Amino acid sequence: MNERRWTALYPQAVTDARPVSHTSLAEAWRERVRREPDARALAYFDGAMTVREADEASDALAAAYRSLGTRHGDRVGIYLQNIPQFALSFLALWKLGATALVLNPMYRGQELRRLIDDSGAVGIVCADADVPQVSETLSGSSVRWTVSTSPLAFQTRDDPRVFGETERKAPASHGDLEELIERFRGDVVESPELTPDDVALLTYTSGTTGPPKGAMNTHGNVLSVAAGFATWVGLRPGDAVYAMAPLFHITGSVINAVIAMMHDAVLVLTGRFRPEVAIDAFVEHQVTFTIGSITAFNAIYQLPHASREHFASMKSVYSGGAPIPPSTIERFRERFGVYIHNVYGMTETSSGVIAVPLGAEAPVDEASGTLSIGVPLPGLDARVVNAADEPVGPGEQGELALRGPQVVPGYWRKPEATASTMPGGWLHTGDGAIMDAAGWVYLVDRLKDQINTSGYKVWPREVEDALYAHPAVHEVAVVGRPDDYRGETVVAYVSLKAGESAEEKELIAFTRGRLAAYKCPREIHLVPDLPKTQTGKIRRNVLRDGDGPGAGQ
Ligand code: AMP
Repeated sequence: MNERRWTALYPQAVTDARPVSHTSLAEAWRERVRREPDARALAYFDGAMTVREADEASDALAAAYRSLGTRHGDRVGIYLQNIPQFALSFLALWKLGATALVLNPMYRGQELRRLIDDSGAVGIVCADADVPQVSETLSGSSVRWTVSTSPLAFQTRDDPRVFGETERKAPASHGDLEELIERFRGDVVESPELTPDDVALLTYTSGTTGPPKGAMNTHGNVLSVAAGFATWVGLRPGDAVYAMAPLFHITGSVINAVIAMMHDAVLVLTGRFRPEVAIDAFVEHQVTFTIGSITAFNAIYQLPHASREHFASMKSVYSGGAPIPPSTIERFRERFGVYIHNVYGMTETSSGVIAVPLGAEAPVDEASGTLSIGVPLPGLDARVVNAADEPVGPGEQGELALRGPQVVPGYWRKPEATASTMPGGWLHTGDGAIMDAAGWVYLVDRLKDQINTSGYKVWPREVEDALYAHPAVHEVAVVGRPDDYRGETVVAYVSLKAGESAEEKELIAFTRGRLAAYKCPREIHLVPDLPKTQTGKIRRNVLRDGDGPGAGQ
């Protein structure tokens, strides 16, 4: 059987050649500046920036970050929602040859500190409202400078749905981003010579065991995913890309931001995702392409006033990061006339690498009722392997393994984790899969404990650790429970120490101070005992697949 049989399913415009890449994102951007300086690069409510304006602002910002001591190879945290300052900071850091460490602004305390400590970040860019907690959390860390910015900047409309409670706050000790741009305007830093192996993004992912791992998404990785995906979705100069996925997640970074910035499209940003704001932006900016989690599309579906007109300018719509029930796609198409194409990717593959070809419809695996995630994109080697790491035949189940220019070379300063997850350059995804005779891939089994809530990944261990910090807690098991809206929700089973008492609500509130909101359990069940194996290991799967509290006992 032809190893790359899926190429027969490629649309005409797509060839199997490895996507042509520039040496670095900085170089790709410079070429765009030469190509179309007066085209629009960024849109944010009523604010807009041309390519030249974004270039000049990011030159100034690069000079500012450099004056704070930032050099080639340094890591700098971006701890922001989807606002223009995120994209400008990307450009500024890449011009300096620095690595953008993308950080979820919902992270608090230890969640944030752990990633800063592991990466050794030298600076951080955050919202002005977050300055007090960032300063406290990062005191004594490797971070030498903090620059803040207001989400009110770069627009004047102040949409009350988004900015109702937002006020400008005092800037961080090393300055306000807009002021720095003005102060350094006209300064141009000399960019270092970058290679495709320089690290553009550091994106953290957790795991069943051990500390979080930073995937090193190189310039080569990011460029090849962006170029491959731009062709896949038929992106054309002048198109508008709506950033539905958060830019602090690999999908938002690469196939919302980079794809638009490097492929002559406008990047449309509206802060944190709000469905009613998103559909207005679709119309206002004539959005042609977007990608987001299926929960975001569900949120749009739930708006009574959302209509076909909101989607009139869309040419391609993709959703990734979590399983999509086939019925969700159908009802979305019936109501809006839009077919949502499935796409699969991981932090370690620099986002989407297996996707449904534009215009095709994903088949459904009869046995499991699972919608196909698509076919491998150009340049990607994909196979399904058994426990002995040998490829299995079409229709046989195993673990999905991937290799190619999209796959990261490894984890930041974790050679052992790299060697065990990516032996011989083959990334073992932890996703149980089958590939059919034509090359369509289906995820059919969960080999990892990960909970997937609205596309956000939650590792039970982290939630369990947060609950173990409560003095009344004896044992905990955290599982994902199927949920129509989010895909899965976080549920905890807790047994208390003898003689201790704690209310379920109190335990949930306890996690709120320690974890980002999406990781906090929505339900806690107090149980006398947790189901265990003969060796005393807690059996999460019994709780997950069982009928609720006390299952398996
Ligand atoms: P992340 O590293 O956060 O992007 O998470 C990657 C994981 O998300 C994959 O290993 C899958 O388990 C899951 N995933 C990504 N895309 C899809 C999809 N289209 N359908 C089902 N699961 C997905």
